[in-house]
Amino acid sequence: MNKKLFVISGCSGVGKGTVLKEFMARNAANFILSVSCTTRKPRQGEVDGVNYFFVTHDEFEKAVKEDKFLEFAQFAGNFYGTKKKFIKQKFEEGLNIILEIETQGALQVKKKMPEAVLIFIAPPGAGVEELEKRLRGRNTEDEETIQRRLAEAKIELERSKQYDYVVVNDDLERAIAEIEEITRRELGHA
Ligand code: ADP
Ligand code: 5GP
Repeated sequence: MNKKLFVISGCSGVGKGTVLKEFMARNAANFILSVSCTTRKPRQGEVDGVNYFFVTHDEFEKAVKEDKFLEFAQFAGNFYGTKKKFIKQKFEEGLNIILEIETQGALQVKKKMPEAVLIFIAPPGAGVEELEKRLRGRNTEDEETIQRRLAEAKIELERSKQYDYVVVNDDLERAIAEIEEITRRELGHA
């Protein structure tokens, strides 16, 4: 059966990591979460090759020049990208793939692979107030980084209009159920 690429985006602090951790715990048999390359420094507890492939600026640039990325983007001062090879390998293993990436990269994927399904996770309410609360509550970023991520969040919300689905992460359990429903429908399992 045909395997699909699902792209999940959402503003920093909206709960992508939390939602996807639980989604993967329930759907690990059929889905793999893509591991991206980044020039960002690891946060406490992050493991190279598991959360990201942590690379230097030079290594990232070299991979760009060699056309190794399906998509890549600069976000809040760091580079992030998805290797073509990773995607090819996982499709060959018979898995559906989830990319958790920001919106510039997501729109590059949609251009190259129109069959990819784009899902945007949005915060409750119209603005970024709840995001700011969650980002501060997570306690992993300094003030400057928080401000930078909130500014990016506004741009990301605007780009969400080009997505196939928008899922509001108000109640965690409900948001996960909605994503499961979307994946089932898109895979023809409904
Ligand atoms: P992201 O991966 O999008 O940056 P995280 O998954 O790290 O965001 O979530 C940011 C914070 O918000 C975390 O402290 C998380 O526990 C909390 N959070 C996630 N989902 C919800 C929700 N539905 N309601 C309230 N808080 C949430
Ligand atoms: P973080 O630094 O919080 O892990 O990620 C910052 C942003 O980069 C998030 O919006 C995340 O989805 C995005 N991101 C992670 N990996 C990739 C990637 O490979 N490509 C792109 N375009 N964005 C990514």
